This record gives sequence, C-alpha cells and structure tokens, in this order.
Amino acid sequence: MTRSILVWHRDDLRTVDNAALSAAAADGDPAPVFVFDPRYYGERSLACDARLRFLHECLDDLDRQYRDRGSTLALRHGDPLDVLRSLLEAGAVDEIYCNRSTTARYGREVAETVRSWDAVRTFSDDGIRRTDERHRDGTVAVDTREGWGDGGERSVLWQDHCEAYFETDPAERPETLPDNPVESTTSVEAIEERYDVAPEKTDVPRGGTMAGNERLSAFCDRISEYPGVVSPPAAAAERSSRLSPYLAFGALSVRQVYQAVEAAPECRGRSMYRSRLFWNRHYMQKLADWPGWTDRAVNPVLRGLFRDEHDPELVTAWKEGRTGFPMVDAAMRALVETGYINFRMRAMVASVFHYVLREWWRRGADFMYRHLVDADAAINYTQWQSQCNLTGVHPVRIYDPAKQVREYDPDGEFVREYVPELAPFPDEHLAKPEKAPLSVQAEAGVRIGEDYPRPVIDFERRAAETRAQYADLVDRAEEALSDPRVRRRGSFSNRRREVGGEGDESDIDEATSGGQSSLDEF
Ligand SMILES: Cc1cc2nc3c(=O)[nH]c(=O)nc-3n(C[C@H](O)[C@H](O)[C@H](O)COP(=O)(O)OP(=O)(O)OC[C@H]3O[C@@H](n4cnc5c(N)ncnc54)[C@H](O)[C@@H]3O)c2cc1C
Repeated sequence: MTRSILVWHRDDLRTVDNAALSAAAADGDPAPVFVFDPRYYGERSLACDARLRFLHECLDDLDRQYRDRGSTLALRHGDPLDVLRSLLEAGAVDEIYCNRSTTARYGREVAETVRSWDAVRTFSDDGIRRTDERHRDGTVAVDTREGWGDGGERSVLWQDHCEAYFETDPAERPETLPDNPVESTTSVEAIEERYDVAPEKTDVPRGGTMAGNERLSAFCDRISEYPGVVSPPAAAAERSSRLSPYLAFGALSVRQVYQAVEAAPECRGRSMYRSRLFWNRHYMQKLADWPGWTDRAVNPVLRGLFRDEHDPELVTAWKEGRTGFPMVDAAMRALVETGYINFRMRAMVASVFHYVLREWWRRGADFMYRHLVDADAAINYTQWQSQCNLTGVHPVRIYDPAKQVREYDPDGEFVREYVPELAPFPDEHLAKPEKAPLSVQAEAGVRIGEDYPRPVIDFERRAAETRAQYADLVDRAEEALSDPRVRRRGSFSNRRREVGGEGDESDIDEATSGGQSSLDEF
C-alpha cells in the first residue's frame, strides 16, 4: 500500500526546490501540512502583524501551488509536537518528512524533538553543514569552516560546500499530487481573527512565491544598478532586491535566487549580489553552529555589557525616532512604519544603540527583530553581535549619523520622508539641525528643541567613553578567543582578529562592515 507522508512546512513555503516534498512524492503520497504555533502569535510574539500577514500570504500562495497540482495545504493550529504526534498516532499519515532549518532556540528544540521520532526523515539541502557532535552548551564540537572528510585532498572547505549547494540542480517539483488525506481544521482568516492580526505598516511587499518570482525577475533586469542603490536608504528601499522576506520564509530558496542571478549578464552588481547570498548562508551557518547567538554575547568577556546602565528614556527615544539625530530617527521611523531599512541603516541604528546610547544589545535587537518583515534570527542577532563587537573579533566601528546624512542622503530625501517636521530645513542643516542658526530655524519655521528634539546625548563624548572601555577589554576578549569552543561558536577559526580597532565607518561599504572584507574570508 502507498505510504502517506506528511510534508511539514516551516520556513520552506514553496513547492519548487523542496527536498522533503520531492522525496515524499518519490516515496509515497505527500500530505502537506502547516501548523500555526501559538508561540508566534499574541503577546509573547516577536513578530509584528505585517510579518504575520506576509507569512499568511505565503501560505495562501503555497496552497494555490498545491491546488494547481491536485492537492491542498492542510492547516492546523496548536503546539506542533502535539499536532504532528496526534496525526501519526491516529494513523492519518505513516511518516513525516521535513527540511532542516536554522532557527533560534525554541524552533530548534521543537525540530530536534520531531527529528528524534522513528517515523521522521529530515533533509539537509540548504548549503549548511550540520553535525550532531556538540558540547553540552550546544556549540559544535567540530570546525564547520575547515575541511571535512579525510582531512586531506578530499576535504571540503565551507565555501566550496556552499557553492556546490548553489550550483546543484534544485530538487524537482512533482507535477501532479494525490488528494491530501489530512484535512484543515483552521484557515488563514480564522487565525487572523483569533489573534487580531491587523497590520498598520505601509509599503510592505506581498508574500508568496509568485510575488517573489516577479520581484526576482524585475531585479535581475536591473542588477547592474545594484552597487549604486544598496547604500543610500531611499534608493535601497525602492531599487535593491527586497527579496529578504521571501528568503526568510522560504517562498524562494537561496539557490533559486542564486541561479536566476547567475543567468543575468555579468556585471559588478551580479558579483556583489552573489556575495550577499553567501553571507546569507554564512550567518545561517553561525546560528547552526551555536544557538546562543540570539541571547548571549559570543565572547564571555563582553557579556552583559551596558545591561545595568539601562536608561528607559533613551531607549524609548531610539524606538520612536526622537533621538535628535535625523538619520537615526528617519531609520527608526522607517523600520516601524514599513518593516524595512537597508543594511547601512540597520548597522547604524545598532551601532548608535550600543556604542552611543550604551544600551544592552538584546533590547535593541529584539525590537528590530519584531518590526522587520524579513526578520531572520540567524542574520539579525548575529549581525547585532558583529556590529556591536560582542565577538571580540570585529572592529569598534561607530557610525556617525551626521556623516550618513551627508554621504547617503545629501538631498534629504530619506530624512524628509520620515521626519517631516524637518522638511522645510535647508539641505545643509539636515545632518546637524541643532547647529542651525536661529535665523535659519525661524525662516524654516522649525524650532529645534520644540518642533524637533536636540540630540539626546553628546555623541562624541559617549563614543569616546565606549572606545576607551573596549580598549580596556581587548586583551581579555582576545584571551577568551583562545578557547576553541568560543572560536567555534562564532566560526572564527580562520578569521583575522581585529579587536579594538579605532576605525569609524568612513571607508567601508556594507560589504565589509559585518567584519567580512571579502568572500575569501569565509
Ligand atoms: C543589525 C542588522 C540586522 C539585520 N537583520 C536581518 C534580518 O533579520 N533578516 C535579513 O534577511 N537580513 C538582515 N540583515 C541583513 C541586510 O540588512 C538585509 O538582508 C537586507 O537589507 C535586505 O534587503 P534586500 O533583500 O534588498 O537585500 P539585498 O542587498 O538585495 O541582498 C540580497 C539578499 O542577500 C542577503 N543579505 C544581504 N546582506 C546580508 C547580510 N549582511 N548578512 C546576511 N545576508 C545578507 C539577504 O538574504 C538579502 O535578501 C541585517 C543587517 C544588520 C546590520
């Protein structure tokens, strides 16, 4: 008798390039299922409504893909362990197939429990090296960056492993499928009503593989302009790929995007973009190597930095875009209003939060994670730790928000859009409005300190204090890195150490600012 195989979708919301689905179709009758987990909804959720809506649109689109092939996507609600176990025990399905993914602690615990069941088969077809050889704190006990295999010529370095994944043909999509024996007991509409999902963000892309493919194809047509649009925040919002939420939910696979981009004409934009896709896998590998990235500083010496200096008013000013630094305020308001800011703005607001406001990184990282439509635990928290140098290997790079206005928003397009109270100000005073003469303020009809705040903090003084503090910690942080377990957490084994650098962000583009100067450094 043909086996009924439950295909458990999580962050692989597509039918193309889906190893679990393709294997289920080869081995039996696939029964696709998505489980709405209450942990991701309601008060404890770290997902804004716009992200939940994007997920729901991906599910509608996935259901359409299944219906086009004769099946449906069955929707259930509840603790995934209970839902899956009861479907197995009731005999609704014989087995469960699922793709492995890289998630934060909770998702990982659920996935590991399911993986330990006899009736479950998992697939690792995403360029990530996985091993069960781990220390008790979850850190990998082998070096995922170095050669695996026999240690000699047949060993494969991480980058080659990842490249092989990108270049292998994707798993085939079944063209026809049988009826799904698992019935839906809920719907997207019922879930939205139950949890009162009512997004307020604007300009959020539509979820789903179809919308993702349209975006991908339009981006490939203009990929040559990518180097010029990636840094200025207004241009990036309109013209960079904006594929990140599709990748985060797996409406498109990273490999699909890679292969589509490879088919575009050769240009600098293409090679730059290609390296971004390696970074995507690189950060995924880091979280796979150590689940602690989302909650603890990698370097034990830097753990808890600024935690006790907490000033709730400063944090509120940062969250609400009222710091008196126009670029920070524009970026934070854009994040809250649209769920998106580009890499440079994310790095800048993280840097200001940690080095200048001197606040504990987790409070900022959680807030950003909640508001990003493309939130991905593997990238968000690792990037925060890198930007704040909680690793002890990245330089202390403090983004000067005034300089960001001058270099990346010289005509004030971004600042004026999100900080409209500064709109009448002349361009030359948008970087530091508090320095504008009273006559300029009067002519613009904007009083700094009344209509727009003065800076909530003395930028130079606080930055200097933080630099001095890091300089004092350098040796101990360096020493901590001699522990192979700490090095493996961050996959730092073959990386150059740059502890305590005095650099600012002046000559780096985002390609270097996570501490990766080139693709060769992986
Ligand atoms: C503090 C901080 C937090 C971040 N949090 C997230 C997050 O939660 N989710 C997320 O997808 N990206 C995150 N990024 C990385 C980056 O900012 C976004 O991927 C990018 O801005 C998304 O826009 P795009 O799709 O137009 O990117 P593009 O420039 O078009 O890049 C294409 C794709 O490459 C990948 N990519 C690009 N830059 C990076 C990077 N630095 N690291 C890893 N992958 C990258 C993404 O998957 C992205 O969609 C973060 C960066 C910082 C500094």
